[in-house]
Amino acid sequence: MSDSFESLGIDPGIMRSIEEMGFTEPTPVQLAAIPLIAQGRDVIAQAQTGTGKTAAFAIPILQKIRHGMKPSALVLVPTRELAIQVSEETKKLGGHLDVKTIPVYGGQAISVQFEALKKGVDIVSGTPGRVIDHIKRRTLDLSGIRFLVLDEADRMLDMGFIEDIEYIIRQIPKDRNTYLFSATIPEGVRRLGADHMKNPEMVIISEEELVLPSTKQIYFKVGRKNKIWALCRVLDKEKPKAIVFCSTKRMVDILEQRLKSYGYPAEALHGDLSQAQRERVLTDFRKGKVKVLIATDVAARGLDIEDVTLVINYDIPESPEWYVHRIGRTGRAGKEGKAITFVSSDEEHLLEGIKGFGGAGIEQADVPTTGEKDVVRKVWDFDEYVDIFGMVKFRIDMGKMDKVGMNDIVELIRNRGDVSEIAIGHVELGEKSSEFEVHKDVAYKVMKSLDQSDFRGRRIRVDPMPRRSAG
Ligand code: ADP
Ligand code: MG
Repeated sequence: MSDSFESLGIDPGIMRSIEEMGFTEPTPVQLAAIPLIAQGRDVIAQAQTGTGKTAAFAIPILQKIRHGMKPSALVLVPTRELAIQVSEETKKLGGHLDVKTIPVYGGQAISVQFEALKKGVDIVSGTPGRVIDHIKRRTLDLSGIRFLVLDEADRMLDMGFIEDIEYIIRQIPKDRNTYLFSATIPEGVRRLGADHMKNPEMVIISEEELVLPSTKQIYFKVGRKNKIWALCRVLDKEKPKAIVFCSTKRMVDILEQRLKSYGYPAEALHGDLSQAQRERVLTDFRKGKVKVLIATDVAARGLDIEDVTLVINYDIPESPEWYVHRIGRTGRAGKEGKAITFVSSDEEHLLEGIKGFGGAGIEQADVPTTGEKDVVRKVWDFDEYVDIFGMVKFRIDMGKMDKVGMNDIVELIRNRGDVSEIAIGHVELGEKSSEFEVHKDVAYKVMKSLDQSDFRGRRIRVDPMPRRSAG
């Protein structure tokens, strides 16, 4: 009983919804945050993704409000999809109460939202841009707000967003409670939060362990040119419901086209699509009609989609925080999940940061074999072999014992490879085998023309050598 919803003194109407939603016991963040909010404290809460932070603020807020004309709670979120999702979850939790909730977000006709606001709502969840639009048109009156939530708090207080947030906060009475919720709360956010909060109580569930152990994390070292090959192999092998993250909208579009052309049903989600398209793609993915969603970081935060079995970082995320949020789309609400990160040589420095923050459990693995013929073939990617001067080093199986000198090797490359001297770098003669460098632009040509060719009556071998690792 002590850790039950009942012990939290929850309103019977909300209890009914909790039962209908199938929640049997509160999660740790709910256990900690609900009583504090109920007591009237401001709260900064950090807990892993997928651990029920929405209900942790929605339940006690629902408990405190009565239906009126002016909204009394405002939840600010970074994306349109989250505005809808938070509103849906709050509606479900408040289904047996006389409380109205609506989402306001860009891309949907402002008149539709205006009509809904005019009828009287109690809880508004919205993106900062659209909330400001409504404030300026005087279609949203924030003078009755008593509860302000910044969900995905660190993102909301990021550069770029902060001015919008501060503008909105100025429209809200000082006599209010403020709550910050996120899976990652960097130190700077606590300080910023302190400017707008009254003696906030910290609820820290998992600073040490940002990623739930039920999510298996692996990475592949794979060159940029072979990422598509690796992706197809993973999709063939795992047959997942997957989100594939890329760093740019353009890359998302390219990947969508390529996957479709190879016969994989995939859909793109990014900020340049129309709102109608965004919602359709997400609905199809939620329902399982589309199995592979390719997305920018617009899908990295907060989205709660059932049974996402795999998250793939096609491009490594720009920061460890984003890594934590992206892979938090799988392994939610106690389920198992898997996250695979593709790391090319130019991305290796970012991997170190991830290992130090959230990704401590990440392990290297090999691209799976499928036993079937690959639709996409692996290609030579000399970018993975180059040094900082753009040179690729090869080993050739001949040396002093074969009575060859440096000049013989240089001549061999020049003549057979049809390569000019300036593209040839250092040559180091060994006993049985030697090493030489050529520029990456001619590396493939040199390898093709020398490897398995005949020299003084025998077949020679030429292999590219892995780059010396920077670390
Ligand atoms: P977070 O914001 O922490 O990432 P969400 O609030 O999106 O997580 O919740 C993740 C999922 O867990 C949602 O589908 C939600 O309905 C569900 N959930 C929330 N609380 C509970 C609970 N106490 N028991 C079971 N499932 C829960
Ligand atoms: Mg959330």
